[in-house]
Amino acid sequence: MFQEFAVRGDAAGPVPIAGEPATHPAPHAAPHAAPHLAPLHPQEDDRRASVLSYRVEDAVDDPSLQALVTAVSRVLDVPVAGIVVMGLEQHYLARVGVPVVNLPRELSLCTHTVHDARPVVVADTRADARFATHPLVVGEPQVRAYAGVPLLTRDGLPLGTLCAVDVRPRDFTAEDVALMQQLARAATGVLELLRHNAGAGLAGRDVLGEGLRLRRGIDDGELRVHYQPVLDLQRGRLAGVEALVRWQHPERGLLPPAAFVPVAEVSNLVVALGREVLGAACRQVARWRRAHPHASDLTVAVNVSGRQLVDPDFAATVEEALAGSGLPPSALTLELTETALVGGDRVQPVLQRLRARGVRLALDDFGTGYSSLAYLRDFPVDEVKIDRGFTTALGGGSPSDVITAAAVGLAHELGCDVVVEGVEDRLQLEHVRRLGARYAQGYLFSRPRSAEDFTRYLAEGPQPV
Ligand code: C2E
Ligand code: MG
Ligand code: MG
Repeated sequence: MFQEFAVRGDAAGPVPIAGEPATHPAPHAAPHAAPHLAPLHPQEDDRRASVLSYRVEDAVDDPSLQALVTAVSRVLDVPVAGIVVMGLEQHYLARVGVPVVNLPRELSLCTHTVHDARPVVVADTRADARFATHPLVVGEPQVRAYAGVPLLTRDGLPLGTLCAVDVRPRDFTAEDVALMQQLARAATGVLELLRHNAGAGLAGRDVLGEGLRLRRGIDDGELRVHYQPVLDLQRGRLAGVEALVRWQHPERGLLPPAAFVPVAEVSNLVVALGREVLGAACRQVARWRRAHPHASDLTVAVNVSGRQLVDPDFAATVEEALAGSGLPPSALTLELTETALVGGDRVQPVLQRLRARGVRLALDDFGTGYSSLAYLRDFPVDEVKIDRGFTTALGGGSPSDVITAAAVGLAHELGCDVVVEGVEDRLQLEHVRRLGARYAQGYLFSRPRSAEDFTRYLAEGPQPV
């Protein structure tokens, strides 16, 4: 329907590329030249910074946004509807009856809605001073009616609009506008979700669909726990295992955690996932301790995400897993990463409660975050796991060697055990020994094994290191 206008738009001058400022006046330049163009929003800099933070390029043609626009078009019976974001120019994230994705601000119908940050409803554009001279009213496609509601962020800044356009004069009722406002809130919710997912490295993934499938997988018992040995170098024997989750997907095969844990982490699914892993690992290790005399003091380390720590039932879940399996608390280590600890003061009480019960805490992937040392100061941990990134670089005389040596020394000074992760060859093992770290884990000793495979490994008897 806007086809002809698009041609006219081109004829009026080149349609600038998204974000290319050169073809536009500077944001605070000249007062608006024509009444059809509202001035910029009073907090335009903040507003634009907010727009940029939404990474809207990932949201173009998003199916949920498109469904909202289709609903507006059908319910209000308008030939043109859109969800637009106003940057330097106007971008359609979803649209009905509009052939273009980007539109110069000068041709936008939505500048007043963005400026006013409240609904703008015009029953007849020719009778409204703000719209009467608009090129899309004077010329094709002769827009006659407009209703726009702002997409408001939590801090009240308008990102853009949800808008409906007709080529006949018509009224929009208060109910129509209320409906549009509700749908605009839903659209902003979708944008928030996309931004959140992008932040978790999940841009472009069908997080909702994958999450629903994972939920079913958890309920249907498709999760598996694999176990990787942790060796005590001082005593030259097996000390414990790290429990590592896998998903036995009926169509896709055995999936590593990287394929599904991030999806579980952006939803609360990781709480259910973590509960399964914790229960299964405690039961399994308690069974091995009973069945194999040389493994009667075997310990188990379980990875815990930040969302689990802030779950009000987390401490009870851990206590149930221990009670249900008969595993002593001192045989369980919870592995936390820095990201799991960003809950700060909120997670201190639960960690203290568990530690008081005798459960051990480890700081995982040590050295990969920004402030490993600060976390070591603020959180009482029993163990530090040096990230395998450092292990790979060991022995090359690189700064990594110095940092690793310092980290091991520091952890020992603080009374923590040290596990070096990712030991793949003998040379690395020699370096680890020289650093004085007592525990090591890595492919040199064993890859993670299924429970059945690990049972066979234990049955072979003590493995000398
Ligand atoms: P992580 O806790 O640091 O676990 C160690 C990872 O390094 C495991 O990968 C392990 O297979 C791998 N690895 C061990 N030794 C070597 C080695 O010598 N060389 C190399 N290249 N890799 C080695 P995996 O099993 O893919 O797990 C990846 C991450 O997923 C884990 O890192 C952990 O952060 C997370 N994860 C695993 N299970 C769970 C779980 O039950 N819950 C949560 N929230 N996260 C989990
Ligand atoms: Mg770990
Ligand atoms: Mg690790």
